[in-house]
Amino acid sequence: MTAPAALTVDLDALAGNFRTLERIGGAPAHPVVKADAYGLGAAACAERLMREGARTFFVARTREGEQLRAALGATPAIYVLDGCLTGRAARLRAADLRPILNTEAQIAEWRAAGGGRCGLQIDTGMNRLGFRPEAAPEPFAGLDLVLSHLACADDPAEPMNARQRDAFAAAAARYPGAVRSFANSGGIFLGRDYGFDATRPGVCLYGGGPEGRPDPRIRPVATLSAEVLQVCDVAAGESVGYSRGFVADGPRRITTCAAGYADGVLRAYSPRGLVAVGGELRPIVGRVSMDVCAIDVTGLEVAVGDRVELFGAHRMLDDAAAAAGTIAYELLTSVTARVPRIYV
Ligand SMILES: *Cc1c(COP(=O)(O)O)cnc(C)c1O
Repeated sequence: MTAPAALTVDLDALAGNFRTLERIGGAPAHPVVKADAYGLGAAACAERLMREGARTFFVARTREGEQLRAALGATPAIYVLDGCLTGRAARLRAADLRPILNTEAQIAEWRAAGGGRCGLQIDTGMNRLGFRPEAAPEPFAGLDLVLSHLACADDPAEPMNARQRDAFAAAAARYPGAVRSFANSGGIFLGRDYGFDATRPGVCLYGGGPEGRPDPRIRPVATLSAEVLQVCDVAAGESVGYSRGFVADGPRRITTCAAGYADGVLRAYSPRGLVAVGGELRPIVGRVSMDVCAIDVTGLEVAVGDRVELFGAHRMLDDAAAAAGTIAYELLTSVTARVPRIYV
């Protein structure tokens, strides 16, 4: 029995995307499993990726690293993108986590606690985190990885990509023993010269395209589905949902489905969202409410207990995100804890 609203995660598809990304990138992929693997479940995803050969993972927060270490055991390397925040070194060391050091203060904090294996972030133009190349530190003991992050990897025509790549190559040359990691998902598709020693894919592992739209090389991984709770026939002039958000211009058949904004069906879908019903795309009508949404299924055979797909193989994640005015990353991480993750 599937829950009324469920996020189904196809681990074979995840594994397939991992292999695709390693092949296209021409370098080992170090999966980014921050934010609970973009909402899909970090432990389950990382365990499966380890079976595919992944031995190094990235998370954002110390706490995410602690939870992943508890789930995966001692084998894999886990890097923490936040770095070594004030007072955090002991926790990082206790869980054998490797901070990505972003500032001199973080280096000092890490060293004062005894140091150990860690990475370094070089800011090649995004102005988000890390050292500017001219201010990057001298090599030091324990430093085993150096990374930088692309600002525009989803746009292959953006000239900043090559500038960042060249700046990274020059800066990383100062740290000859360290693994050089540069490309995120989008970067992997920019060319082999973006791959360096290891890539850091996130969204493409989980089914998002590298350029913010579906890509035939990336398989859908996550399906958000909801059960049909009720089917009702609505006459011309009648309205559906809060604030009369939809008024029927003729006889309509409407289903109420068991997923609302408290499950991660963004309210911004009203009025542009489409949902796959038996393989056909049908509009969400009226306002998305907390627990349910309404879909116009006029002309379709739909019964209570059927399931509709908010995103998945029939309603691609990137298209669903675009309809809500957002990106696959936000759509995936918006699926709430109320929705059980089901692994197939
Ligand atoms: C989130 C993140 C990634 C993964 O990015 P995707 O675009 O999801 O592949 C890689 N590197 C860093 C530093 C990140 O913050």
